[in-house]
Amino acid sequence: MSLLFEPLPPVTLPIIALEARFPVHRIYCVGKNYAAHALEMGSDPQREPPCFFLKPSDGVLLDGRLPYPPGTANLHYEGELVLAIGKGGTDIAPEQALEHVFGYALGLDMTRRDLQKTCSQRGQPWDTGKGFEHCAPLSAITPATVCGHLDRGAIQLWCNDALRQDADIGDMIWNPREIISTLSRLFTLREGDLIFTGTPAGVGAVVAGDRVVLRIAGLGELRVEIV
Ligand code: MN
Repeated sequence: MSLLFEPLPPVTLPIIALEARFPVHRIYCVGKNYAAHALEMGSDPQREPPCFFLKPSDGVLLDGRLPYPPGTANLHYEGELVLAIGKGGTDIAPEQALEHVFGYALGLDMTRRDLQKTCSQRGQPWDTGKGFEHCAPLSAITPATVCGHLDRGAIQLWCNDALRQDADIGDMIWNPREIISTLSRLFTLREGDLIFTGTPAGVGAVVAGDRVVLRIAGLGELRVEIV
């Protein structure tokens, strides 16, 4: 087979304590999965269940230097726990869901909030707000065999040394088991999928020169500078 042009190399993440890398398939995201964040976004977590969206896989950023994207004057960080799927499936029961998790990473769901809000108010898809170049800064993956399965523990984000997000991953409305089970009834999950599990309250804007640090208990930290 001849190809019209050279395809891009696969997007891969490093893995703590392993030589092999993790090839990324899709990036799923959960929106409004912490009640306090849903409230700050103007939603009622009692009435609106969490929602799903996707980011382009080639939005992965690994070098920690995020160029300020075009088309926005309100770029926000959202610090999130990311699940790395190591075994695919459909119709996965919540009780079996963690068997599909290879490991965990720290991720920033970078968001052009002004575009997202405009789309949302017009009843249009959010894609321009959530999917763009370098929209998904990520850490290396820590295998569950190293960190165990994470269902509670501090998630904290600093911007220029000021603590902006301070919550516990145990406060998610849908926990990782429920997220995997629900997603697997909508999509065929595959090894290589990443799932951003939602952000706690305290999201905010960044500008060039800002430094963001995300820490999650058991996973170390992710450092990103806006350039
Ligand atoms: Mn998010």
